[in-house]
Amino acid sequence: MIFKLEHSVNQRINLSNKTVELYIKREDKIHPFVSGNKYRKLKYNLDAAKKLGFKTLLTFGGAFSNHIAAVAAAGSLLGFKTIGVIRGEELEDMVPTNATLSFAKEKGMQFKFVTRESYRNKTSKAFLKNLKDEYGVFYTIPEGGTNALAVKGCEEILTPDDEVFNYVCCAVGTGGTISGLINCSKPSQQVLGFPALKGSFLKEDISKFVTKNNWKLITDYHFGGYAKINEKLVTFINQFKKDFDVPLDPIYTGKMLFGIMDLIDNNYFSKGSKILVIHTGGLQGIEGMNVTLKSKKLSVII
Ligand SMILES: *Cc1c(COP(=O)(O)O)cnc(C)c1O
Repeated sequence: MIFKLEHSVNQRINLSNKTVELYIKREDKIHPFVSGNKYRKLKYNLDAAKKLGFKTLLTFGGAFSNHIAAVAAAGSLLGFKTIGVIRGEELEDMVPTNATLSFAKEKGMQFKFVTRESYRNKTSKAFLKNLKDEYGVFYTIPEGGTNALAVKGCEEILTPDDEVFNYVCCAVGTGGTISGLINCSKPSQQVLGFPALKGSFLKEDISKFVTKNNWKLITDYHFGGYAKINEKLVTFINQFKKDFDVPLDPIYTGKMLFGIMDLIDNNYFSKGSKILVIHTGGLQGIEGMNVTLKSKKLSVII
């Protein structure tokens, strides 16, 4: 892709508990709008779309989706038309007050709002045919952006210098990012995934993309499910930023780091372990989450 990127650096986190070494790979900093793993996942897909002559990208997501924001921004940088199929008909009237959707709109994304029921059937032939009839030809990027080309992009997150780490940790949504990390890890490294949603088929989904088995999902830190959040998590995120100057998002990286700090406190990692945590970005989601927190009269993410 042809827009400018910053290198992500491994930032050391100075823990008071000195039994392990903790570093965060700041992938959130690689681009202001196409940040973190969403850039990695789009890279080869957009190359393919361009090579194949597509002018339009179509993808799917919810009202706070980091993926929707990233596709809109990347499309506008690279000259693609973008269409976002959005879950929830009622959102049509809420674009101006929804940070993610208004950002995507500003970047030129055209929305198609659909009911939750049709959204569930979004990969059916009939649904896709309707979209083709309405929008003509387009390159389809799946929900969350995960496919084989996305995994290939995520295989570029680790560099040769990262071989010194015993553990590589990342947040998990659809499993594309962790699949890429597993593929580019050394067999002696352990890859730990922290799902942001409750259980289901993740393990099988990941197994489709990987051949190694040096990985594990830690399923105790989803805080009740996708986009669910509580006071304790908000406090943790705010304290983490204050202590270490690393902003975390409430849906993925905040929950993962809460989990990692808890595991460190409980001596999950053997003494002397070197841990690398991937900051997958997602910071655009903070604004939208704060609207929800305010409406519930809870403290916000600062
Ligand atoms: C989308 C996203 C993830 C999940 O990535 P998958 O490849 O879907 O598992 C993790 N962290 C952040 C910040 C994200 O936006």
